[in-house]
Amino acid sequence: MTSLTLRKRAKRALSARSEPQAANVFELTFNYRFEAAHRFTNSCAESCATPHGHTWYAKAIFEAPETSLGSDDMALEFAHLKRAWKTFIQETADHSFMHHHADPILPALRAAIPLFRGLPFPGDPTTELVASLFFSKLRSMHEELIRKMPSARALRPVAVVIRETPTNSITYRARHFESSTLLKRYAAEWRAWWQDSDPTARHLEATKPTMKAGRKSSARQ
Ligand SMILES: [Zn+2]
Repeated sequence: MTSLTLRKRAKRALSARSEPQAANVFELTFNYRFEAAHRFTNSCAESCATPHGHTWYAKAIFEAPETSLGSDDMALEFAHLKRAWKTFIQETADHSFMHHHADPILPALRAAIPLFRGLPFPGDPTTELVASLFFSKLRSMHEELIRKMPSARALRPVAVVIRETPTNSITYRARHFESSTLLKRYAAEWRAWWQDSDPTARHLEATKPTMKAGRKSSARQ
């Protein structure tokens, strides 16, 4: 067998393997900065147990197949797609204190700050949790956009990148969002802002009354 034939066979095999993902896509990203504080309550150094702030960047990533382009050569007008994400980041996340829902310092903060601007999390607001719940939020808002504008279905939210510092970032990439064990568990346990299409929502309620008691005492050590 000649090397030319081998090369042709290898090329055909490679082509066949890539056919199921044959659609070439455009990737659309929207990146917004927000200033916010957080702290951890579990197993961490004093630097992360102390409330502190970061300049965060939250990048939403969508994919649109190249076949989705309209006669104007656009998948969708940018303004429609980024409006809710921008509102969520600038009006809900910005200048907030992202906190564990049962952080023991909350009563003092609420007592001292009548306009306390908290964003509650089901656990410590790690960058991983921020990325996955912000992705869930992006998806909730996108589903609402599809209800108002069916053409938005051509775009699919695929990832959120949270940059906590110039050198650290976490990407939550939804390869199998419907089967996400993490988000399914949180959906079963909570009714919360990340499932709400309203970009200004910031509620978090336990679905089971027993969960309102917060974490086990051992988690507060
Ligand atoms: Zn931090």
